Amino acid sequence: MIIAVDGPTASGKGTIARRLAEHYGLKRLDTGSLYRAVGLAVLDAGGDPADEKTAVAAAENLDLTRIDEHRIRSAAAGAAASVVANIPAVRVVLRRAQRVFANDPNGAVLDGRDIGTVICPDADVKLYVTADPGPRVARRLAELKSRGENITYAELERQIAERDARDMTRADSPLRQAPDAHLLDTTHLSIEAAVEAARRIVDAALKRPAGP
Ligand code: C5P
Repeated sequence: MIIAVDGPTASGKGTIARRLAEHYGLKRLDTGSLYRAVGLAVLDAGGDPADEKTAVAAAENLDLTRIDEHRIRSAAAGAAASVVANIPAVRVVLRRAQRVFANDPNGAVLDGRDIGTVICPDADVKLYVTADPGPRVARRLAELKSRGENITYAELERQIAERDARDMTRADSPLRQAPDAHLLDTTHLSIEAAVEAARRIVDAALKRPAGP
């Protein structure tokens, strides 16, 4: 079973994907972490995330087992991620790794921007998780503040709007709802309520029609 979860930053898709994976006993890949790790590697080397050659080399050298889960969550790594994600040759390299993960015979949950549209177009269930900008900015602000990062609401709001625009308008694999994806708006939902709603969608989608 493949569950594809797409949506913009801080929509709740990561938590939902993690909890679905636990519930259904599947492994999970947060595909944003791959782009973040590539962006961070370029920054660490003093490079420019917009430079294709540097970014592709970083993608090719990426070791999925050695991603620094703490450092990739910084605002700087997130911004660099959305720049490298705009380079088609980087996406080609990372697509390979994502498809290998998704081909596991035991199934998987993958979350990102183009899982239901490009990486796993035949996924058994697709969710498109979204929320109004206000709650998304507030959630990400709380996360960054808990890491000790100093950023204002207004600056983060600007960064998230810029990231959304870049993700949604790029020519290669833009963020959009697949026609067969179920929409889940978490604006007015607690984490528990959002996870419960996602589980109900998956359970209903997996219910096969009774045979003859
Ligand atoms: O989800 P997260 O905020 O960690 O993703 C970081 C960036 O990686 C996104 O802004 C997006 O540009 C890129 N990304 C992508 N395709 C994916 C996952 C993430 O382009 N499947």
